[in-house]
Amino acid sequence: MEKKADIVIFGAGIAGLWLLAELKAKGYNALLLESEAIGAGQTLASQGIIHSGLKYAFAGKINKLAQSISAMPDLWRSALEGKGNVDLSAARVSASSQFLLIPGGLMAGLVKLVTKQALGNNVHEVKKVDWPDEIKRSGFKGTAVFMDEPVLDVASVIRALAEPYKDCIKKIDTPDNPFDFLERHNIEADEIIFTAAASNHEVAKRAGHDQKLHTQKRPLLMGMMKNAPYPLYAHLVGNSDKPVATITTHEALDGSLIWYLGGGAAEREKEANPQDVYKAVRKGFAKYLPGVELSTAQWSVLPIDRIEGKSDIDGWMPDTPTIHSHENVHYCWPTKLTFAPLLASRLLERINVHPSKEQADWSFLENIDYATAPWDDTTWTK
Ligand SMILES: Cc1cc2nc3c(=O)[nH]c(=O)nc-3n(C[C@H](O)[C@H](O)[C@H](O)COP(=O)(O)OP(=O)(O)OC[C@H]3O[C@@H](n4cnc5c(N)ncnc54)[C@H](O)[C@@H]3O)c2cc1C
Repeated sequence: MEKKADIVIFGAGIAGLWLLAELKAKGYNALLLESEAIGAGQTLASQGIIHSGLKYAFAGKINKLAQSISAMPDLWRSALEGKGNVDLSAARVSASSQFLLIPGGLMAGLVKLVTKQALGNNVHEVKKVDWPDEIKRSGFKGTAVFMDEPVLDVASVIRALAEPYKDCIKKIDTPDNPFDFLERHNIEADEIIFTAAASNHEVAKRAGHDQKLHTQKRPLLMGMMKNAPYPLYAHLVGNSDKPVATITTHEALDGSLIWYLGGGAAEREKEANPQDVYKAVRKGFAKYLPGVELSTAQWSVLPIDRIEGKSDIDGWMPDTPTIHSHENVHYCWPTKLTFAPLLASRLLERINVHPSKEQADWSFLENIDYATAPWDDTTWTK
């Protein structure tokens, strides 16, 4: 017997999950199909920062990107308060704000001016007496700038989005052939949406939907430091336009604290020697955060690509989410976790189907689990 959906989505990362929640709240009969595990791609590997644009303004990108992203934290905050279509009240906020740590001197004044011009009052210097304990203890010397950017516990965001709709998130066992999967199971859909990151382009190519489609992958070798001394959420700036390290803190299943290290330290080929990451972090900490105790630290890396629409600016990401449509089939990249709400609202403007209100029963399809966080699925070295 044929099963009918208003919309089928492929890929249960932040883009697919946020979209599903929006659609279900509006009464759409939607099905989300995932090949690995819920959150398995970039989403659970992300740092969970809801960017305000400050980092990009600092890097001289006072452009559409810094501005379009600066509206996002408020949108997320209202979802976290349980207001709006998407209810994230069950998700955990790891930190309500972050710090930009700028080692002293002339540069600090310049940076403050740039960021202030770009983003206004969401940015302000914190007087040394008011520094939080973790910054005082780190031995940092310079300017600490308050950043109005929450950091979310991404695993809890994924669950908050997926749990209410678990009965319509199912496994696809033939990810290379998604259209065949629908045919094999007699599933009809008015609109088909791909939020399957790296797979999107391959699928579009095989379906002959790739005219004028340009995407890019930007590799990272993320650092992970186990037995971190305390929670810290900061962009540590050095002498280049990329932070020495962007530090977020996560709790592993064994209760230990992990510092997850992005930014300059992680900007290298996935095949690079992990020791290069550890060395860069140790060197940066020794120079700028000499109070951080590293004697019991254990280290690991995560090689991963950021996958997005192709940017006009070499080496940078696009200003906003990318949607490539071929009739009723849409291929999407949010560009950032932060942009998931914007991607969903742009897709809602594009799709050409009304909510049928009647919900199909997808119990004949295989269930799917949640993914494991990178720090709970790695080996550690001293
Ligand atoms: C290390 C790292 C840190 C980051 N930190 C941040 C941050 O702090 N803040 C921020 O805003 N952004 C951050 N980003 C960017 C952000 O994580 C991504 O933009 C976002 O998660 C992409 O979401 P997505 O749903 O498009 O893709 P993904 O999360 O990659 O999800 C795609 C899903 O599709 C599934 N899939 C693949 N093929 C198929 C198929 N054929 N059928 C069905 N399912 C399929 C995959 O298994 C996966 O679950 C970071 C990215 C990386 C790599």
